Amino acid sequence: CGVFGIYGHPEAARLTYLGLYALQHRGQESCGIVASDGVLLRSERAMGLVSDVFDEERLNRLSGASAIGHVRYSTAGEVSIREAQPFLVACQHGQIAVCHNGNLPFASEERRALEREGAIFSSTSDTEVVLHKLARSHAASVIEAIPEVLRDTEGAFSMLFLTPAALIAIRDPRGFRPLALGRLGDAWVIASETCAFDLIDAQYVRDIEPGEMVVINDHGLRSSHPLPHRQHAFCIFEHVYFARPDSIIFGRSVNESRHKMGKRLAIEHPADADIVVPVPDSGVAAAIGYAAQSGLAYRHGLVRNHYVGRTFIEPKQSIRSFGVRVKLNPVRDLLRGRRVVLIDDSIVRGTTSKKIVRMVREAGATEVHVRISCPPTIGPCFYGVDTPNKSDLIAARMSVEEIRDFIEADSLGYLSLEGMLEACGFSPDVACVACWTGRYPTRITREAETMYER
Ligand code: 5GP
Ligand code: SF4
Ligand code: MG
Repeated sequence: CGVFGIYGHPEAARLTYLGLYALQHRGQESCGIVASDGVLLRSERAMGLVSDVFDEERLNRLSGASAIGHVRYSTAGEVSIREAQPFLVACQHGQIAVCHNGNLPFASEERRALEREGAIFSSTSDTEVVLHKLARSHAASVIEAIPEVLRDTEGAFSMLFLTPAALIAIRDPRGFRPLALGRLGDAWVIASETCAFDLIDAQYVRDIEPGEMVVINDHGLRSSHPLPHRQHAFCIFEHVYFARPDSIIFGRSVNESRHKMGKRLAIEHPADADIVVPVPDSGVAAAIGYAAQSGLAYRHGLVRNHYVGRTFIEPKQSIRSFGVRVKLNPVRDLLRGRRVVLIDDSIVRGTTSKKIVRMVREAGATEVHVRISCPPTIGPCFYGVDTPNKSDLIAARMSVEEIRDFIEADSLGYLSLEGMLEACGFSPDVACVACWTGRYPTRITREAETMYER
C-alpha cells in the first residue's frame, strides 16, 4: 500500500490526491482521503484507481488544512469497500482516521480475542484491530494511546493518524516499510515514497526513523521514540521491485540499486548472447545495468500496454490464453534471429515467465537466457507484500534447473543474496531478506507457519 499525509496547507486534500497519484503503483484496489478542517474529519473512499475515484466534486467536500490518503493492495483481509482506507471512527478520544502500509501477522489472533470480549468489526482488515485497541485505551489522549497500543504490536507498520487537531506518523521499530518526511513551504508532508514529494514540488527532509513517532500540530513538529528498540529489517524487495525507481527508499536511490543489481547479475551470470531485453517495467533498470556491464546492446524488445485495467474480459471462445499478451507484445524486428538475455526482477509462480519466454521465442529469438535480479523467492511475506503461499512459489518446490526447464529457457540465473545486498548497499544486519532465506525477523503465527510449511 501507499500512504500520504499533509499538515498546514489550504489545499491539503488536493495535494493528497496528487501524492496518491505518484503512489498508485503501490496499490490499485481502492483509495481514499480523510481531511480535517480543524473541527471535523470528512472521508471519501472507493474502489478503483485515484484518477477514477476522485473528481472536483469529491475533492471539494474534503475541506481543511490537513489530510491523509491511502492506496490499497491487499495482503490481509478481503478486497471490498469495507477494507478501503483511511478508516474513520469516533471513540472516547474523539474522531480518529488511520491509514496503514504494512501487515500485522498477529492481527487475526488479536481480533478473535477482542471478538470474544464483544467487539464488533466492520472489516476484515488487520488495521481495524489497532483502532479497537485505541478505543479501549485509558490513556489521556490519542497521542499517548498510539504508542501504548503499538508498543507490543509485532509486524510491519508505517502508519498515519489524523485527528481534528494533529497529524501523527509512526513507523514500526524494525522499519520494514519506508516512510519519508518532507516540507512544502510551511506545510509538512509524509509519504511512503519520495516520488510523491517530487510531484507536488515538496522537499525530502529525511526518513521517519524505525520506532519513531512524529506529531504535527499547530505548535509544530515533535519527534519521539516511544517504541522498544529492535534490529532494523528494511524490506529489500522495495528496492528489487515494489518502489518506483525515481524514489529514495531507506535513504538510497532505487534506480541506483537496480542498476547495480543488473551489473552484478552480468558478472555472476554472463550469457553468450546478442541483446539484453527487459520485461517492462520492473526489469528495465536492472537490464540497463546488465547491458552496461556485459557490453551487450540494450533493446526494448517487449512493449507494455499501460492501460490494462483489473477487469480485462477475455473472449469466451478463446483459442489461447490472452493473459500476458494483453500487457506485453514483442517487437519482432528486434528479436528475430537474436540470442536474447531476458531480464526480470523476480519469478513468483513462474507462469508469467513461461509465457514471456515463449512469446520471445515465437517472435524469432534463437535463444532465451533468463536473468533474475534477486535470489529465488522461497517464502511468503508477512510484512506487507502479497507473495502467495509457499506451495504456490515455484522456487519453494523446484531447483533452479527444474525452473529453467519449466519456463523453457535456454539458461536461467538468479542474483545471489550477497550480490543483491551489496548492490543495494545494505548490510544483512539491517535488511529483511526473509522471502529469499525463510528466516523471518519476527515470530510468526502458528497459522502462518502452517501456511509456510504447506
Ligand atoms: P511469474 O513468472 O512468477 O508468474 O511472474 C513474475 C512477474 O510478477 C515479474 O515480472 C514480477 O515483476 C511480478 N511480481 C513480482 N512480485 C510481485 C508482487 O508482489 N505482486 C505482483 N502482482 N506481481 C509481482
Ligand atoms: Fe520484503 Fe521479502 Fe521481507 Fe517481505 S519477506 S518484508 S517482501 S524482504
Ligand atoms: Mg514484472
